Amino acid sequence: MKIAFIGLGNMGGGMAANLVKAGHEVAAFDLSEEAIARAKENGCSTFGTVREAVEGADAVVTMLPNGNIVRAVLTNDVIGHAPKGALLLDCSTIDVATVREMIETATAAGYEMVDAPVSGGIAAANSGNLTFMVGGSDSAFTRAEPVLQPMAKAVIRAGEAGAGQVAKMCNNMLLAAHMVGTCEAMKLAERNGLDPQKFYEISSKSTGYCWSLNDYTPVPNVGAASPADNDYNGGFAVALMLKDLRLAMAAAEASGAKVPLGQKATEIYENADKAGLGGKDFGVIFTTL
Ligand code: NAD
Repeated sequence: MKIAFIGLGNMGGGMAANLVKAGHEVAAFDLSEEAIARAKENGCSTFGTVREAVEGADAVVTMLPNGNIVRAVLTNDVIGHAPKGALLLDCSTIDVATVREMIETATAAGYEMVDAPVSGGIAAANSGNLTFMVGGSDSAFTRAEPVLQPMAKAVIRAGEAGAGQVAKMCNNMLLAAHMVGTCEAMKLAERNGLDPQKFYEISSKSTGYCWSLNDYTPVPNVGAASPADNDYNGGFAVALMLKDLRLAMAAAEASGAKVPLGQKATEIYENADKAGLGGKDFGVIFTTL
């Protein structure tokens, strides 16, 4: 297949490289020259504009920072420029309303489109181990699955248009709350004279177990290896978690869902960001308690 790939940043760079490895012809575009140079090294053909990259494409993947950029790229340079009938896959994390609007616009213009946000960070993007949560029609999902497979550990259909983004924001709101809870429990154990490693051994085999505790322990040199062991460098940045939490809070307000823990977690990550920790892994909350 000829696949156009727009947005070759931390995530998109490795994803595009995995499509090349799977034997696809990847036509890549990014605003950053550095990203373009890396894509070229990884075997993509590179272009000076989105419109050139999508020419003759069977599928167009976007992996961009936010909803406004996705809307601008799709409406200005993809829809009406990629061949009619091409499959559009937006893998960015954006708000549900924007992706639903985009899928409606794309469908009206003769394209099938899915939202396919991912779980997993840069390492999973590089190694082809992302989990894709896909929203869209049955037929769009059937076409999307083989495109996503070379980049994936799992490709799961969440439901109709926008359902992938709903799954993503709910998952990350849950993760944010788990992580804050894990950090608090670890700190409380430590302050009350319990060795954090001992607490990890007990709670990871008790009802407190969760991914943040068992697989990503946010305390330096305790439990599972994580960015905490490297001064909270690498991993999933506080600023990115905050972005996802804000999407969840906006959706909660719009839908009337009550999310008091989600709100509290948002406040905690906002404070960490304001304290200059935006670039650190999200387990850094442990150090703020
Ligand atoms: P990034 O900032 O590293 O990459 C975004 C890329 O988009 C950049 O290279 C930028 O130059 C490019 N770009 C911006 N505007 C553009 C335009 N108009 N045309 C073409 N290219 C443009 O971000 P990232 O970490 O790769 O994240 C991408 C998406 O994936 C985001 O929506 C993010 O929320 C989501 N996500 C990130 C992670 C993570 O761990 N980094 C995990 C899951 C999901």
